[in-house]
Amino acid sequence: MSERTISGKQKADDGKIEQTLRPQRLEEYIGQERVKKNLTIFLQAARSRSESLDHVLFYGPPGLGKTTLAHILANEMAVNIKITSGPAIERAGDLAAILTNLRQGDILFIDEVHRLSRVVEEVLYPAMEDFALDIIIGKGPAARNIRLNLPHFTIVGATTRLALMTSPLRDRFGVIYRLDFYNQMEMEAIVRRAAHILGVKIDAEGASEIAKRARGTPRIANRLLKRVRDFAQVQSDGTIDQPLAGEALRLLEIDHLGLDDIDRRVLRTIIEKFDGGPVGLETIAAAISEESDTIMDVYEPFLLQLGFIIRTPRGRVATKQAYAHLDIPYTEDQPADTQPVLF
Ligand code: ADP
Repeated sequence: MSERTISGKQKADDGKIEQTLRPQRLEEYIGQERVKKNLTIFLQAARSRSESLDHVLFYGPPGLGKTTLAHILANEMAVNIKITSGPAIERAGDLAAILTNLRQGDILFIDEVHRLSRVVEEVLYPAMEDFALDIIIGKGPAARNIRLNLPHFTIVGATTRLALMTSPLRDRFGVIYRLDFYNQMEMEAIVRRAAHILGVKIDAEGASEIAKRARGTPRIANRLLKRVRDFAQVQSDGTIDQPLAGEALRLLEIDHLGLDDIDRRVLRTIIEKFDGGPVGLETIAAAISEESDTIMDVYEPFLLQLGFIIRTPRGRVATKQAYAHLDIPYTEDQPADTQPVLF
């Protein structure tokens, strides 16, 4: 997979800066007003009953703040948080080890929760529902089932693919919240906040330029800010204004909507190789040598949001707006139905 500046997925050098920039309390968390309002009530209710939080699931594209919210819940409840992910818990025993180390009220954050294996999920069900761990001791006719009680903990799950979660697992989360892309105003506030924490001088137009090109995704905004900051240090006195931000982002080949070379290749492939679609995701992925999962998680949600592609049962179709963005003439009778159906 190619490393790109505008992917919402976490990259190796994001780690340290993300920790510095991550909002610690709910009131510092910008945007997602509906989710915040619900979480405020949810937190107050749990606190007033002196109970642990119900299990929570956040879903939405990468980089929108799911992990951040898990940390905030822990901070607001003044409990410990343990971080893991679906693919990291390989065996049922791994999960049992984690669960038995939790204390009352602790949060276990499971990123990519849709990637838990079936055997691990089976252990998780009674743990989430009854705070119990069923362990089999011994083998054959002598095997015995022992039930171990666990403290009341909270699972906070995050996923980019709600549809890939099994329904028994989904049903065990008391609350499920969808995170949306941030609007321009929220993105500007996020850029200004990050610049302030990093001690970078930026004017309103500079912040607006970065915000506009960050695909409604805070992680990308932070990353672009870092790139533009480097540029400002070398090219000027270190202050970020609109011309400087514009020039830096142009050099990174990020256009005024935040699309980069790979987005444009996805669109061009649908339009030029497949007459505008419908064409299956796997086929697009093969044509541009990317993983189909990456396209689905990272590229497609924003292209859908912009209205540049639509999903049909027969595959992806490029819209008139996509043609216009790429300056390709659009004719009404795109031979959309002549394509083989490839999913
Ligand atoms: P996800 O878990 O959804 O992939 P993260 O929670 O890791 O995303 O967020 C990525 C980065 O974006 C965080 O380090 C944080 O700095 C920033 N961020 C996310 N949401 C917000 C927000 N609402 N306000 C300010 N910064 C945010």
